Amino acid sequence: MIMQELTPPQRLLLTEILRRLLEITNRKYQEVERDLAKRWAGYWGEIALANYVKELPQDKYYIFHDLQLQIHGIYFQIDTLLLSQNYILIIEAKNISGTLVFDNVFKQLIRIHKDGTEESFEDPRVQCERLQSLLRRWMVKNGCKLLPIDTLVFLKSTNTILKTNSADNADFNKVCKGRDLFNKIEKLEQRYNQVKVNNETIIQMGKLLLSQQSPKPINILEEYKLTAKDIRSGVCCPIETCRFIPMNYKRGKWNCPACHTTSNDAHLEALGDHFYLIKPTMTNIECRNFLHLPTYDTSQKILFKLNLPTTGKTKSRLYYLSPKKVTPCVL
Ligand SMILES: [Zn+2]
Repeated sequence: MIMQELTPPQRLLLTEILRRLLEITNRKYQEVERDLAKRWAGYWGEIALANYVKELPQDKYYIFHDLQLQIHGIYFQIDTLLLSQNYILIIEAKNISGTLVFDNVFKQLIRIHKDGTEESFEDPRVQCERLQSLLRRWMVKNGCKLLPIDTLVFLKSTNTILKTNSADNADFNKVCKGRDLFNKIEKLEQRYNQVKVNNETIIQMGKLLLSQQSPKPINILEEYKLTAKDIRSGVCCPIETCRFIPMNYKRGKWNCPACHTTSNDAHLEALGDHFYLIKPTMTNIECRNFLHLPTYDTSQKILFKLNLPTTGKTKSRLYYLSPKKVTPCVL
């Protein structure tokens, strides 16, 4: 049974918004664009994994995607967690193509590109060990019955070539490609063939995992050492092939000077961008500046219409944006 569906990760959404709102000439633009491509690739890996685990017996496994937990201030995220009466399985998805060498000396994963250049990553098996240990501590702290926890690294691309620099084939016991996932899970089922807890306990544990989620706060501007000044303000044209910034506000409508599209609510996306990238509150003047509105009154009308919670009065009044009120849509 799927307990938590896969949704685009917050970091991917934020990077997508950031890329859209940075000038191409910004010193960080290239880096943001590179990271964005990697994050999309990672997400495609998670989607592939989610499609495979859907095929598992639904009455046997409680499936959670993108679980975000915290213990003693340490945040950790699990791509996919399978909870059963016999054991728990953590699966980390990777979408790295090419030839991959698992370096057992330095515990790193080396990707060899076609032109012979090399790129190193942290060994995903080491990442899994960390998650395993954190989840165990989390279970102890939350008074859960201790089930055995095992891990798997899932590689999306079946064309990936796996190598190791040790003679031991056991290196790949915890790594699988594509549909090999099912063989690995079958072996784990043989290994953990004892029922450890009843179904009710598993349901309780599942509810606890969902209720105790604690996503790590992300300040994407700070991560790239950028400030609000680096962000292009103004309302973005909603037409996918245009996306011109800024649209002009005339007689209650947004007009795109590039493609002449008009819109009644294109400002919602800009308010969402402000909420996610800069801060979740706005004064009337900040709204006027960010949306490039002609007057204080138009800005007030727009904010008033949204029926947002407020504090303070007149010019210092703070409007509290919320994800429900503004559209962070980037996909
Ligand atoms: Zn346009």
